[in-house]
Amino acid sequence: MKELVLPLPDEAATVALGTTLAKACDRASVIYLYGDLGAGKTTFSRGFLQALGHQGNVKSPTYTLVEPYALQPLAVYHFDLYRLADPEELEFMGIRDYFAQDAICLVEWPQQGTGVLPEPDLALHFGYQGEGREAKIEAISAYGSQLLDRIHGSQG
Ligand code: ADP
Ligand code: MG
Repeated sequence: MKELVLPLPDEAATVALGTTLAKACDRASVIYLYGDLGAGKTTFSRGFLQALGHQGNVKSPTYTLVEPYALQPLAVYHFDLYRLADPEELEFMGIRDYFAQDAICLVEWPQQGTGVLPEPDLALHFGYQGEGREAKIEAISAYGSQLLDRIHGSQG
């Protein structure tokens, strides 16, 4: 499967998508999160992180660019590149080390890191839909396609 569009009528649905994807992810992977401010990228990330045992809130690491979470079975790095001035800054912060690890990388505003970030397994595109939201999930790698099949299969 290459692409799946899911309605997200309320915040709980965005959190639930994060939960579903976190439970499907069983190896190191890169997930791009596109969407305007307020579209639900961080809400999704909270569902994802809490499903892997993170307790408490999740804030976009707007100023620090990345927040690490030591979780099981895999560590998660949550990036927010909104304020990145130049993709080269990512080289200075040692971006390759993050992506070389056995970890899941969630990346908000990936378009800010074009040319430096590795290709993702999945790209999620969040958009406004009336009072709610919608997510288009696009498989980029073969593993991303497997993940998409799992998400599809777990939608009641
Ligand atoms: P982003 O990280 O994309 O800027 P956030 O997740 O921080 O967006 O903020 C999204 C806002 O929209 C939050 O106030 C959240 O409660 C709300 N929200 C998230 N998902 C939905 C949804 N499916 N329907 C309605 N509101 C939502
Ligand atoms: Mg955010």
